[in-house]
Amino acid sequence: MADTKNKRYTKPKPYRVSASKKATAEKAPFRIIPLGGMKEIGKNCTLIECNDEILIIDCGLAFPEYEMFGIDIVIPDFTYIRENKEKVKGLIITHGHEDHIGGIPYLLQEVNVPVYASPLAMGMIQHKLEENFLSCESHVIKAGSKFRAGSFRIEAIQTNHSIADSLAYSIKFPGGHVVHTGDFKIDYSPLDGKVIDLNRFSQLGDEGVDVLLCDSTNVLRKGYTPSEAVVRESIDEIFDNIDRRIIIATFASNVHRIKYFIESSIKHQRRIAVSGRSMENVLALSRELGYLDDIPESAFVNISEIKNIADRNLTIITTGSQGEPMSALTRMAYDNHKSVKLKKNDVVVFSSSPIPGNEKVISQVINKLYEKKVEVVLASTMDVHVSGHASSEELKLIHTLIRPKFFIPAHGEFRHLIEHAKLSNRLGQPKNHIFVIGNGDALKIESRKAEIIKEFTSGDDVMVDGYGIGDVGSVVLKDRKSLSQSGLITISVALDSATGSLMTEPKLNTKGFVYVDEHQDLLRDALNIVYNTIGKNASKGKTDEASLTRAIKSDMKTFIYNRTKRNPVIIPVILYV
Ligand SMILES: [Zn+2]
Ligand SMILES: [Zn+2]
Repeated sequence: MADTKNKRYTKPKPYRVSASKKATAEKAPFRIIPLGGMKEIGKNCTLIECNDEILIIDCGLAFPEYEMFGIDIVIPDFTYIRENKEKVKGLIITHGHEDHIGGIPYLLQEVNVPVYASPLAMGMIQHKLEENFLSCESHVIKAGSKFRAGSFRIEAIQTNHSIADSLAYSIKFPGGHVVHTGDFKIDYSPLDGKVIDLNRFSQLGDEGVDVLLCDSTNVLRKGYTPSEAVVRESIDEIFDNIDRRIIIATFASNVHRIKYFIESSIKHQRRIAVSGRSMENVLALSRELGYLDDIPESAFVNISEIKNIADRNLTIITTGSQGEPMSALTRMAYDNHKSVKLKKNDVVVFSSSPIPGNEKVISQVINKLYEKKVEVVLASTMDVHVSGHASSEELKLIHTLIRPKFFIPAHGEFRHLIEHAKLSNRLGQPKNHIFVIGNGDALKIESRKAEIIKEFTSGDDVMVDGYGIGDVGSVVLKDRKSLSQSGLITISVALDSATGSLMTEPKLNTKGFVYVDEHQDLLRDALNIVYNTIGKNASKGKTDEASLTRAIKSDMKTFIYNRTKRNPVIIPVILYV
């Protein structure tokens, strides 16, 4: 009895050991080095380096920005990986979106590394590799899988996102414990029934996490991102009430949503036709992987045979939700589609939201649809799309469960990273434990301290144009910009190599400058300028190629600018005969 009395005031044992105490006792120093995905949304790629071993998380691409003329895609700069090839132990993939897997074929040309990815992501990666005649050591993993790459002990954790099989990772190694969320949201009723494993996140928080890297895309959105179940309700409403042809444009990779469109169609006695190469590819892959197991082949009809099917019995699932010029929906809108002629009263559903930068082309397509008196359903008017990224309240939950010692906001433009840093600070994370870092910077963690090493390696954009990787830089882009703005003038001059006098009349050619037939006067006057310049230089004895090129360029530039206020690229070509 006496004992109980004494114990009454004993402080209860804390049932959680604080993350900061447990996480960093006497561990090897390590670095986290993002090569892409910081201060941008695109080309995600992050390295963890410890004891001469490197683990890569994701390897994505970015789409070219407005002024990157002629550039196909942008990938991370792999210089650091190239220089440390022998240290690289593995590449782990969070999910199959292009900004996470699109750079893999380029990486694998530099370094042979085992790739770990979920079934759908791996299927998409394999497809890319086959297109590029590449192969790799591949390991298919699932939520809950635990595996090793070198000394990295890795665990894949179930998350929710706008593509099936999205994973977060817990990575334990001699330096400590890093958790990377990948792209995620918290969906309590996802279409595949697999809810994000919050319990595991909480356990990892108890074990102690040194560094958390977390998706920042929707940090500016208040509250919670709605569940995919919301889309399901809207789709039900559309199918219940519409007895005309339904055409749905969505992201090919959102397999579960597409499966729901298919199931709803079957329920409403509709056959399904699919249009667009990426949609056909992903559906074939989904079928192979068993995502569409309960859908009979007879539910589908070839797009070229839809003529025989009544409008009320047909759903078309198509690419083109981003207004891509060659996509199936855009071709339908512009009457260029081989099998689908749009007609009055068709219903086109955009089950998507515009990716920033695409708004204009999408609205052009929408206007074309209106011209055809097609009924257009957008996410802004009906809940036919929800985001795949966590809003601020969901982010707060993840921070609270994981309670990392250090925090790096990831996957976001600069404003997103800064706001995510502020959110974490408001939750009690000390400012000097939050690190907003750029591509190519490194966060070094050593004896319980973390510091940023600015510009540790190159975090530049590497531009891909056709077969050329990185050969187009700022100089070439500047030329392409000038050419696109005012065109080109070439001036061909043949001179006597002995006397420096003109052998024939100089020739002027233009491209993209003016319509020649309507500007004969201007071109004649320009030719006179060339005569004058050559005469002037000859009288000074300056008939060498360099002096003459410089003089013609400069005089012509002034003349053209004064007459037209334009700055075309001017290329003199001088021949000595
Ligand atoms: Zn994603
Ligand atoms: Zn992403």
